[in-house]
Amino acid sequence: MDFDVIVIGSGFGGAITGCRLAQKGQKVLILERGKEWDKGSYPRAPEDEWIWSQASPEHHHGWMDLRIFKGMSVIQGAGVGGGSLIYANISRVPPEIAFQKGWPPEITLQSLAKYYDAVGQMLRVKPIPPNQLNPRIQLMRDAATNIGDRGRFEQIDLAVCFNDDPNFKIDFNAPPDIKNSKSYINEHGAQQGTCAHLGECDIGCRVYAKNTLDKNYLPEAVKAGARIWPLHLVTNITPIDGGYRVDHDQLTASQRLPGSTTATRVIVAAGSIGSTELLLRCREQGSLTNLSTFLGRNWSSNGDFLTPAFHLFHRLWPDRGPTIGSAISYLDGSDNGRVYWIEDGGIPNLLNKFFQGLMAHIAKAPKGSTLSQEFNVHLLLQHLTSFAAHLDGLEHIMPWFAQGVDAGNGVLSLKNGALDLDWDITNSLTLFEAIAKKHKQLAESTGGIPMPLPGWTLGKELITPHALGGCNMGTSSANGVVDHAGKVFGYDNLYVADGAIIPRALGVNPSRTIGALAERIASLIPAD
Ligand SMILES: Cc1cc2nc3c(=O)[nH]c(=O)nc-3n(C[C@H](O)[C@H](O)[C@H](O)COP(=O)(O)OP(=O)(O)OC[C@H]3O[C@@H](n4cnc5c(N)ncnc54)[C@H](O)[C@@H]3O)c2cc1C
Ligand code: SF4
Repeated sequence: MDFDVIVIGSGFGGAITGCRLAQKGQKVLILERGKEWDKGSYPRAPEDEWIWSQASPEHHHGWMDLRIFKGMSVIQGAGVGGGSLIYANISRVPPEIAFQKGWPPEITLQSLAKYYDAVGQMLRVKPIPPNQLNPRIQLMRDAATNIGDRGRFEQIDLAVCFNDDPNFKIDFNAPPDIKNSKSYINEHGAQQGTCAHLGECDIGCRVYAKNTLDKNYLPEAVKAGARIWPLHLVTNITPIDGGYRVDHDQLTASQRLPGSTTATRVIVAAGSIGSTELLLRCREQGSLTNLSTFLGRNWSSNGDFLTPAFHLFHRLWPDRGPTIGSAISYLDGSDNGRVYWIEDGGIPNLLNKFFQGLMAHIAKAPKGSTLSQEFNVHLLLQHLTSFAAHLDGLEHIMPWFAQGVDAGNGVLSLKNGALDLDWDITNSLTLFEAIAKKHKQLAESTGGIPMPLPGWTLGKELITPHALGGCNMGTSSANGVVDHAGKVFGYDNLYVADGAIIPRALGVNPSRTIGALAERIASLIPAD
């Protein structure tokens, strides 16, 4: 065998299992479809590498993979570090209620506690210091107070490095200045800097204040001998004597170079959409025919919902400071049994220009080209420019965000060779309506005018960055694809370790839980 372990994907599931297994002395290879990004390559201009195209990745292997399905679109990262590159740094342990049903008995909040701690320590999570709170956090606190819910307000732990000088001052009415960041080398040997409140967390932090996986787990994996091969898209996994052959296409100079590598053990960590799609393809190609018939089911959007509101009397600057910093929690189900929390939102300043540029770029793509086929420009317009259109007077906009426990009844499958999501909103509608009502109440309590997105009001169209499920944990292949330890039912030494194994909505941002499950899975895999 070429390696002891091949890990597919380098996000929360892949980076953590890859790191921990390499530290156990295993010879580890991490295959990642996206490229290695740094501050010199983060996309900024419309013509930069924004888009990952699943149909033509040899031409378009950019920052963001956007999948448009009927009623639900999914956005996810692509690159070494996976979703940590694009994410808003929220690192939250879910409430007990998220473990009440749907999980194998071995998985409880208590059994995961030490793994949650391990992830929190490695990602150095902490809330924004009191001397650096941006105006959106103050608005959240005021809104919670005004509706009598001050006790539900909380600041959230972020995987961000802040300047801890109590005299450090940020003037949010002045444009952010990169010079406010202090640079240093972290304990893993990676270059980082303190947060300068640039508001670019979702498009790559130019001062490396985000504690992304390429600054901690991945450097530790490499120190322990792991290899990382970027721009390697895995296409198939085939059982062979003593292990597996993993087929991959290397993406180079507008070409796909097919190859394969073998390992005793394979850990699929390509994310909810990526892992489910890969395993569905393996089954269709006849290489993994014993996979559970449950594959693709229990997919959840994690109840993501957004309502922008215009607050004429507040200068909120959603484009300054970390994307999200606080929440108002209804995770106790006190709102008629609906489990959700509200967050302040942020958006990079260039999104408006970017959407316009991106639309023009896709519209210019020749008819019948993969880009124009893959992206239904009309739907994309509905999703993105409707939001961007609200951005005039950006400083007065509050993007009210939320996540909640939806019905988790989406089904992923392959239709005519392409991934399809069967998303039925019926059983989740009361959750989204409760969130929309709470957004309205909070916005109006602070003098704001809610402007629900037309995609929602006209067509109940949603978009989520928090895809969960598809290869969910269960007690047998009758109700799951993997067991509590991430092992695929029906196969030895084949694992899934990422958001795909989470069998239900969590109601809070999921990366901490994905990380904790990955820590646990790696700890249960024997060193030999
Ligand atoms: C804009 C945005 C903001 C977010 N903010 C937050 C937040 O603040 N807090 C939070 O908890 N979560 C947040 N999320 C969600 C979070 O990023 C994901 O839940 C998390 O990254 C999922 O981890 P994962 O390991 O399951 O998959 P990922 O992190 O997505 O990693 C999967 C990796 O596999 C790679 N891959 C996929 N298919 C293949 C293949 N066939 N071959 C090789 N490689 C492959 C992908 O490129 C990717 O790097 C956000 C997401 C987005 C898009
Ligand atoms: S606010 Fe700016 S500096 Fe701070 S973490 Fe986000 S992108 Fe980096």
